Amino acid sequence: MPIFEFKCEECGEKFEKLVYSNEEICCPKCGSKNLKKLISLFATSGIEQGSSGCSSCSGGNCSSCH
Ligand SMILES: [Zn+2]
Repeated sequence: MPIFEFKCEECGEKFEKLVYSNEEICCPKCGSKNLKKLISLFATSGIEQGSSGCSSCSGGNCSSCH
């Protein structure tokens, strides 16, 4: 199971959370869903990340993504 690190765009809280498929994540501090996914601590080499990101950036916009 992948663990993702999120940052809340509302209050700036950073937290890690296990993410199951398409689960909605809320900030544990303020409850906002306005979150930014930072990194997957579990991602190794492109295993089912649900996006076009690669293992080195997870954002889909670096030189090794395509
Ligand atoms: Zn928050």
